[in-house]
Amino acid sequence: MSSALKADSEIVLEALSVNHDELMIFETEKFEPIDRDPALRRKISSDADRSYLINQGPFQPKLSRYPRNDEIELGKHCYFSSDWYRSFPHLEYSISKDACFCFVCQIFQDEVGHQKADEAWTSRGVRAWHKMKSRGKAKT
Ligand SMILES: [Zn+2]
Repeated sequence: MSSALKADSEIVLEALSVNHDELMIFETEKFEPIDRDPALRRKISSDADRSYLINQGPFQPKLSRYPRNDEIELGKHCYFSSDWYRSFPHLEYSISKDACFCFVCQIFQDEVGHQKADEAWTSRGVRAWHKMKSRGKAKT
């Protein structure tokens, strides 16, 4: 082996062992992706969770039908509508709980000024579909 090749391979081996150490550090700080469904996700308290969710964006599943909320009296709007995502870009819908949440309030509920975020929009969820109002253009 030429001395140049030997020097090169030592550099490569050194780089590999450094990477290997970084890998080990990463493994000890195992990141469990937070659940995207706002009713199932753990309380957001780490920056890792926050940046993961911000990258994913609000959870806005579009279903062909949403369940009827039997607590709402007959004749009133009684189920979630995916049209509301356009009026309220931070709105999230939980399939598991049939309830909606506010993405921004959930992410920043621990931040200064957000401690008073309404629990209805962060942990309980809102199901009063008859009280939701669409902003913007009327439906055609
Ligand atoms: Zn909010």
